[in-house]
Amino acid sequence: MRIALFGGSFDPPHLGHTGIATAAAALLYLDRVLVTPAGRQPLKRDQHQSSFEDRLAMVELACQNHPPLVASDIDAPRPDGRFNYTYDTLEDLRDAHQDDELFCLIGADSLQTLRQWHRAAEALMLAQWIVAARPGFPLEAMASLLPSGVHAGDSEQSGGLVRVPLISGFRQQTLWLLPQLDYEISATDLRAALAGAPAGITERVLDPAVAEYARKHRLYTESCALRS
Ligand code: ATP
Repeated sequence: MRIALFGGSFDPPHLGHTGIATAAAALLYLDRVLVTPAGRQPLKRDQHQSSFEDRLAMVELACQNHPPLVASDIDAPRPDGRFNYTYDTLEDLRDAHQDDELFCLIGADSLQTLRQWHRAAEALMLAQWIVAARPGFPLEAMASLLPSGVHAGDSEQSGGLVRVPLISGFRQQTLWLLPQLDYEISATDLRAALAGAPAGITERVLDPAVAEYARKHRLYTESCALRS
């Protein structure tokens, strides 16, 4: 099987998330995309977040009409209180799926912080990485944002994909760029909209079931918006 990890805050999960995951699945023949809210994110430690349980429940609703997307709790808060690192989650996945091909999906904005990720260079070697275009974050900058010790080889374009070999010492991996995606949707903007004028949010940006969950559980009230 070809399995992708797609981690993030998902606070809330929106149609940009499901859009890039569905596109990645179609272009790379993924059997399953595990959409995994992260428990404790080191790079968002000072940001107020909805609870892990609420974010997982919303991801379940967001994925329900989008096979092969599957909500997963593999990145739940750790019992020892340790931060959730993508490196650890990929290692756990590799142990659990030794005969499967592993991928890791991120949006282009995540490349900006990649160098600060825990064991970033090693994490890049644990799976094939997929980077989806996001408005405002040019994919051309990718090579300059790689952690030290990893460099990009010559890329090849085919269909809606660009294949980039990643080299780290004697090891090699593949990174796939998905340049044709253009989802101008942000969870930060959605939280503000849900707190202020939810009537303006359409089905083109947020699944109505997710919007209803957020409303029913009062996740994005004005006081929450001020804290984030
Ligand atoms: P926030 O505004 O709260 O930071 P976010 O949607 O940018 O929200 P996450 O929920 O953590 O952040 O996103 C999960 C993953 O989805 C990340 O890899 C992010 O880069 C990617 N992503 C989010 N929105 C888009 C989008 N509109 N286009 C492409 N990728 C996206």
